[in-house]
Amino acid sequence: MGLWESKLPQKARSLRPQEKDILKSPLIIFVMGGPGCGKGTQCKNMATKYGFCHVGLGQLLRQEAQQGTRRGQKIREIMLQGLLVPTGIILDMISDNMLSCPESPGFLIDGFPRELTQAKEFERIVGRAPNIVMVFDCSMETMVQRVLHRGQVEHRADDCEPAIHRRLETHYTLFEPVLTFYQQKNLLWNAE
Ligand code: ADP
Repeated sequence: MGLWESKLPQKARSLRPQEKDILKSPLIIFVMGGPGCGKGTQCKNMATKYGFCHVGLGQLLRQEAQQGTRRGQKIREIMLQGLLVPTGIILDMISDNMLSCPESPGFLIDGFPRELTQAKEFERIVGRAPNIVMVFDCSMETMVQRVLHRGQVEHRADDCEPAIHRRLETHYTLFEPVLTFYQQKNLLWNAE
């Protein structure tokens, strides 16, 4: 664990029974895939088409990173290194965002889970599994090309050469166990 991570909350807040109740019925879709695979774009399209709420973790983290707070600064540092933000923060972000749209028929959780602990923690905290897990498959060359292009157009700080390689490494190292976990639960849906 890095210096920055050690000072951020590692544990997610537990949900109250009434909160778990609210999250029992909506459709929950997790959307996974490497950097630049197109998950953000497709989530936006699906959210518009089906009237679902889009919870884009990278986007929410970037907003938080722009705050001039100590916490924002730490998150920014982790993202620039291409590493994962601690699971406690991620799960709090997901549950807060879902609970802020209690009427939504469905949620697209974009960029989650990125490691097995996140998958298991979600079930522990929210008290249920997702309905579907979508996986966007894309070659590494395409991912690198797209992310570099996006870096030029959108000026995203982590879309630069060293960070991309670190993000790809993080992705490929942690992805497989999550896939196996959902394969066993029969929840995987592959999009190519
Ligand atoms: P990409 O998938 O292209 O890397 P995202 O915008 O989805 O871009 O994520 C950007 C960064 O935000 C990641 O490199 C990581 O640092 C952080 N991040 C996003 N989702 C998660 C998550 N589920 N867990 C931990 N960190 C995350």
